[in-house]
Amino acid sequence: MLTRFAPSPTGDLHLGHAYSAVLAHDAARAAGGQFLIRIDDIDGSRSREDYVAASLADLTWLGLGWDGEPLRQSARLGNYVAALDTLRARDLVYPCFCTRADIAASLSAPHGPSGAIYPGICRDLSEAERARRMAAQPHCWRLDTARALAVVGDLAWEAQGQGMRPANPLAHGDIVLARKDAPASYHLASTLDDAAMGVTHVIRGADLIAATDVHRLLQALLDLPTPLYRHHALVCGPNGKRLAKRDAAASLAAMRATGVDGPTLAANLLAGRLPTGYSLQMP
Ligand code: GLU
Repeated sequence: MLTRFAPSPTGDLHLGHAYSAVLAHDAARAAGGQFLIRIDDIDGSRSREDYVAASLADLTWLGLGWDGEPLRQSARLGNYVAALDTLRARDLVYPCFCTRADIAASLSAPHGPSGAIYPGICRDLSEAERARRMAAQPHCWRLDTARALAVVGDLAWEAQGQGMRPANPLAHGDIVLARKDAPASYHLASTLDDAAMGVTHVIRGADLIAATDVHRLLQALLDLPTPLYRHHALVCGPNGKRLAKRDAAASLAAMRATGVDGPTLAANLLAGRLPTGYSLQMP
């Protein structure tokens, strides 16, 4: 068994991150497997080195040891570019020049599990038009999800202990695989990295259940193995809402500063016992 914890170094880790890391760490250790860390630092403008160091320090404080060196997404940009090239060669992605405002202004932009469903404005541009605009305008690359599904057929993924769940990536519309400002989106980078790291069990928050449908499609398109998935309940704060990076009181750094013992907190989280005022909820 190989599990991972993949923080984005864009803020302090909080109790929700600790819960996720504890579950992934424990699953690997209980099975005599490996627990890896990945730093999801693809977002160059928001990622910060001090948050990388602070995240690793928080894990150490919790008593969670990891195997090997943490893997950085920023060191794998070439792999993301290569995967996108493969999909481009198969005519499964297209450049999109739309701004957020263009999409918001479109009358036919319903919402899906990950925000507005892209209304397809750039899907059917001619080759000449694409070439002309690519030379002049910033663009992202979107998956032609319907076309991709037609290639791979019906898909499902396994929720550990709960059997197979049919995947419905069409609900997300044509998702972004490479951003205007980064060579991969979360979906592409995370799917490729989980495969490259040899992750057998993806243990993460239940907010990512729907995203797994997209990841399953990418696995099928790129010939990657499919791990088992365990999506856990989310830690909610005293206001009943899931924790966000701005909830300073729930940050692990704040807890450490008030004298909380890391390994005791980790053991309690593993047993589902949360500090007073916090609760676990399925979204
Ligand atoms: N960096 C991502 C996050 O913090 C990881 C999500 C995942 O586990 O796939 O949300």
